[in-house]
Amino acid sequence: MAVKAFARKQGIVLTEKEQAWEKDGTSPPFGVSTYYASLITPSDSDDPIRRQILPTSCEMMYSPGESEDPLAEEEHSVTSRLIHRYAERVAFLVTDACAVYCRHCFRRRFTGTQRGPATTEDIIAAARYVGAHQEVKEILFTGGDMFTLSNEKIDALIGEFRAVRPDLIIRLCSRVPVVLPSRITDGLMAVMKKHSSAPFFLMVQFNHPRELTAQSREATARFIDAGIPVFNQSVLLRGVNDDAGILEELCNGLLAARIKPYYLFQGDLVEGTAHLRVPLEKGLALVKELRRRLSGLAMPVYAVDLPEGGGKVPVDSMYLKGRDSDGAWVFETPDGGERRYRDPEV
Ligand SMILES: *Cc1c(COP(=O)(O)O)cnc(C)c1O
Ligand code: SF4
Repeated sequence: MAVKAFARKQGIVLTEKEQAWEKDGTSPPFGVSTYYASLITPSDSDDPIRRQILPTSCEMMYSPGESEDPLAEEEHSVTSRLIHRYAERVAFLVTDACAVYCRHCFRRRFTGTQRGPATTEDIIAAARYVGAHQEVKEILFTGGDMFTLSNEKIDALIGEFRAVRPDLIIRLCSRVPVVLPSRITDGLMAVMKKHSSAPFFLMVQFNHPRELTAQSREATARFIDAGIPVFNQSVLLRGVNDDAGILEELCNGLLAARIKPYYLFQGDLVEGTAHLRVPLEKGLALVKELRRRLSGLAMPVYAVDLPEGGGKVPVDSMYLKGRDSDGAWVFETPDGGERRYRDPEV
């Protein structure tokens, strides 16, 4: 559905910037589930759910230091859909489709590009790779969103990998429990149960306490009750959750739902997202305040995925070395290299 038709249906009056958006470059398509749209308060133009899914013309502006692939995933691809950036774990791009398209998506070079699900050949090639690389202990099924596939396809996908590596830990990375909880059906859970020779972990993305509804908590509880621990990876987003009170409520709400807050990500330097990023200094202040308010269990790790494929590091003095003369933040990478992270200018 086009943005204007969607707004009319929801009783949303579009702002000038929302009206002016046109899909260009790597901007993901507009797309939202009926359920997730129902969480929007139509009269509030700053609504935190709306900000995550309604595109604005800000996405058409690229900022210095941004790239379409800041994590250099293409460079680290070892088969058509398999990314091997860290020795012990790989990420497999199951499909490009999602249940909603997040305006902050960092994998926009791929997400919503109509490339479709991985083919049987893609899956076999990736399974062969992890079969030949026993040092790989974990695989992340990501994309896109794997739970947009049919149960049959998910069954076949997991089956291929389990056949060569029954010991491989599988991380199911999905926003579906948050944005389309009705998809988490008995049939899907039966597929999970069938392949339990090694652990699954579910990695979700709740960014705001309003997303913790009865439905989304029930969907995640199905995994937990089936013995699949659930971890949350939030993205720090301007105007959505860049507030200590909101983050405190989110983390406590997650814990109450038996979900462990795992990461709080600083926004990646991906093109067209400067308006959603938070200056690093503000992020540090927020996390310091959270540490004061939250239990250790409720506390996520504030992390940044360094540009030019530098790798993921916690934002702390072990890796954050200071600022250079231009004001860019200087980080040490896990491999002992150096990368610069530039704050948004707006
Ligand atoms: C984030 C990521 C991982 C997982 O990192 P953890 O710190 O173990 O959560 C693995 N592979 C790729 C390519 C990633 O981007
Ligand atoms: S669900 Fe994940 S992959 Fe899909 S648009 Fe959102 S952030 Fe990107």
